[in-house]
Amino acid sequence: DTVKVSNFLRAIIERDLEAGTNAGRNFAGTPGDAAHHQAGAPDPAKVRLRFPPEPNGYLHVGHAKSICLNFGLARDYGGICHLRFDDTNPEKEEQEYVDAIEEMVKWLGWNWESNDTSHLFFASNYFDFMYRAAEYLISAGLAYVDEQTPEEMRLHRGDFNTPGTDSPFRSRTPEENLARFREMRDGKHADGAMVLRAKIDMASPNINLRDPTLYRIRRATHHNTGDKWCIYPMYTYAHPIEDALERITHSVCTLEFEDQRPFYDWLLESLAAGGLLAHPLPKQYEFGRMNLSYVVTSKRKLRQLVEEKHVKGWDDPRMPTLVGMRRRGYTPESIRNMVDSTGVTKSNSWIDYSVLDGYLRADLEGKAARACAVLDPVKLKFTNWAELFGSEDHVELSHAPAHPHLPELGTREFKMGSEVWIERDDFLEVPVKGYQRLFPGNKTRLKYGYVVECTGCEKDADGTITAVLATIVPDTKSGTPGADAIKVKGVITWVGVQDAVAAEVRLYDRLFTEAQPDAGGRDFLEVLNPGSLKVVQAWLEPSLKDVAAGAAFQFERHGYFVADRVDHRADKPVFNKITGLRDSNWA
Ligand code: ATP
Ligand code: MG
Ligand code: MG
Repeated sequence: DTVKVSNFLRAIIERDLEAGTNAGRNFAGTPGDAAHHQAGAPDPAKVRLRFPPEPNGYLHVGHAKSICLNFGLARDYGGICHLRFDDTNPEKEEQEYVDAIEEMVKWLGWNWESNDTSHLFFASNYFDFMYRAAEYLISAGLAYVDEQTPEEMRLHRGDFNTPGTDSPFRSRTPEENLARFREMRDGKHADGAMVLRAKIDMASPNINLRDPTLYRIRRATHHNTGDKWCIYPMYTYAHPIEDALERITHSVCTLEFEDQRPFYDWLLESLAAGGLLAHPLPKQYEFGRMNLSYVVTSKRKLRQLVEEKHVKGWDDPRMPTLVGMRRRGYTPESIRNMVDSTGVTKSNSWIDYSVLDGYLRADLEGKAARACAVLDPVKLKFTNWAELFGSEDHVELSHAPAHPHLPELGTREFKMGSEVWIERDDFLEVPVKGYQRLFPGNKTRLKYGYVVECTGCEKDADGTITAVLATIVPDTKSGTPGADAIKVKGVITWVGVQDAVAAEVRLYDRLFTEAQPDAGGRDFLEVLNPGSLKVVQAWLEPSLKDVAAGAAFQFERHGYFVADRVDHRADKPVFNKITGLRDSNWA
């Protein structure tokens, strides 16, 4: 449906497909099985990609970029995209996050199942293989156990200008290292007492090649493997192995991993040389992060917003988490279209929040039912009602299509009596220049109703306006012959007092007052928008009485709103404002 703009990743994949670079990948068993990487049936997938979240928090809009990129490339090139939980860090990971991540990938419209096969993987299922691979590296003289303190290790690593210096433990024999590593595994040493390091080059200009750590001792219960392990692989060691075991062809990641690529290749080549992995091996490609203005997308900062109660939870409608954006009313289509519009480049990019709102409007314009709502109500009283219709209690019925172009959405029906609710700012006692709505002496149309002529207002002792007064202009009811005989410039919406539905409406604004809240190392909490949530008691037209939580509407003149998926109930309606009809909010 969307136009596929070429980019450097597409060019690489097309080149590889043409050259047959990834042909000859065979599969036997499940990733992580000993037999898996040896012979087997040729892989039917032309390319394999993966989305590899760490289940240590909720997905945010930046992850949507990575999800749509990887699943989209797999779809477009006859491939498969894996959902892989990168769960090698026992402390921060929880089942709650695993469940939420699965739900949101599906919500965005993607699926890791194809031909009845699930491509859902957990890195922790490869711990046995990773351990065997580490023993292989040790026996090949490519890894050693280092007992330096973390401080010594840091000092000896050097920096960009200074080469590192070898650890005194670097020259141990493979046998000594193997014995020590097994002691680490068997719980003979305290947390942090020693680590396993790759033996590469302490003088490398790339600091990531100065004997990076592969394993550490950490006594922590893992959400999948429980207390089976007290040593855990480092991310940089685990990730390439995960890709290789799953026969990923193109391992797409963000730019900050560029300097890790030489180690990625070193590790996989080393394991292939030892017969633990087979060629062709996965290749890593980096692209620029997507950032959205007026939000922060670091999990750490999002967690801080939740834990310090600046917002009401991970799914607070102001949060750039996918659960928050869904609750706010952003549709999967709007998020996918925004993300696609940012393209794929070699530099980090900022996208303006208004782009997301534009795609939301474009999506809902064509499908959301219309409804009237009064968000800041004041009564409008018709002083000639009884005179015109014979009784103060007389009620007129009005009709309107639920959607101007979708007859299948049906008709709305509402009642007009001698009093209706209107917006407080649809009346001015003394009009400003150009004001065309209600002011004494002016005629205005009530949409789907009559033309009325304003005659004044009622006030309380403080001078607050308590009601606006008007007379109905006879024979002007919308949809009746001659209704348009009187021309008026202003049209306002209203809700009948007889059938209005009381509702809580939550009006959201951006969470931060600065487009780049954490720019230049600023504490993002300093630029929190104190007015990011305003709650009003509104009157809604009766068609909104029994709507399902999560249903979205265009409130005429106001914008797009959604019935809150958590708090909305038929007997206590709650709606969230998604965005206005125009871009004014974000100007
Ligand atoms: P954060 O820094 O917010 O904690 P992360 O990169 O540590 O995010 P992961 O769970 O490891 O979180 O991310 C899964 C994938 O999503 C990674 O491949 C990561 O590169 C990608 N990703 C995360 N943020 C963005 C972003 N803003 N733009 C594009 N891709 C992103
Ligand atoms: Mg990460
Ligand atoms: Mg991170």
